Amino acid sequence: MKINVAKNGGFCFGVRRALAIALKTAQSGAYVEMLGDIVHNEDVVKQVNAAGIRTIKRLGRGDNKTLLIRAHGASQEVFDRALCRGYRIVDATCPKVRKIYKMAEVAKHEGCEVIIIGDRNHDEVRGIVGQLKGKAIVIDSLRRIPLKVIKQISKACVVVQSTQNLDKTLHILSRLRKHIKSLTFYNTICRPTRVKQEEIKTLPLHNEVMIIIGSRTSANTRRLFEISKSLNRRTKWIQSKGELKAGWFKGVKSVGIMAGASTPDDTTRNVIEDIKAF
Ligand code: SF4
Repeated sequence: MKINVAKNGGFCFGVRRALAIALKTAQSGAYVEMLGDIVHNEDVVKQVNAAGIRTIKRLGRGDNKTLLIRAHGASQEVFDRALCRGYRIVDATCPKVRKIYKMAEVAKHEGCEVIIIGDRNHDEVRGIVGQLKGKAIVIDSLRRIPLKVIKQISKACVVVQSTQNLDKTLHILSRLRKHIKSLTFYNTICRPTRVKQEEIKTLPLHNEVMIIIGSRTSANTRRLFEISKSLNRRTKWIQSKGELKAGWFKGVKSVGIMAGASTPDDTTRNVIEDIKAF
């Protein structure tokens, strides 16, 4: 059985960078807190917690504490509140996400209505909306475009959550173009996401079985799974090697492996080793 591992699978540079910043801050002896998980991956969260970083649900008193801002950022309100409460802030927001904030802010300043294509409950999208003080329209699917509102807009700028599916984005965009006269589109889907999505459009066609590795809470892993499943019905989504089933590989000649942007290389390596053993 041939095992074909995606060239672009696993950690993106933004996650790698955030993790390095988190561990370095913890090693410096600081008392570090984080609002929510650093990335959507249980193994990474465990590693970060083991390093002494505490995950909190809401801000407390910040004296002698450091607040770590995660890879997908936070709204300006979070920064302001944290500083008010006395926290020191270490910002691990991915530079790609910060770039989206900037683009959206400039567009708003120039009188554009800002439209964000993305999952409205995702931290990154909340962060962009928060940076614009709530003045943005979020569209998460073709079926849920608020047409009444959209028809009243004459000038808009569209930005996209960095891990969105490009095809879905383009469908939404072409619908918006029908109603908005002046529309500027910034394709802010980041490069690591694009190359993964490109690869996942071919890998499932050349392998009998596809294994997608990543947490159930990881939106980018879910998108990789959905694309793969649409091309190859024998696509399986697992979080770690423990979920592998020998039966999936019986008589199979080729297996494709793809890992989400928040999946550590170790998790992928362990999955490969176990598949080899099958
Ligand atoms: S997926 Fe893209 S935007 Fe998000 S952390 Fe990774 S590189 Fe940055």
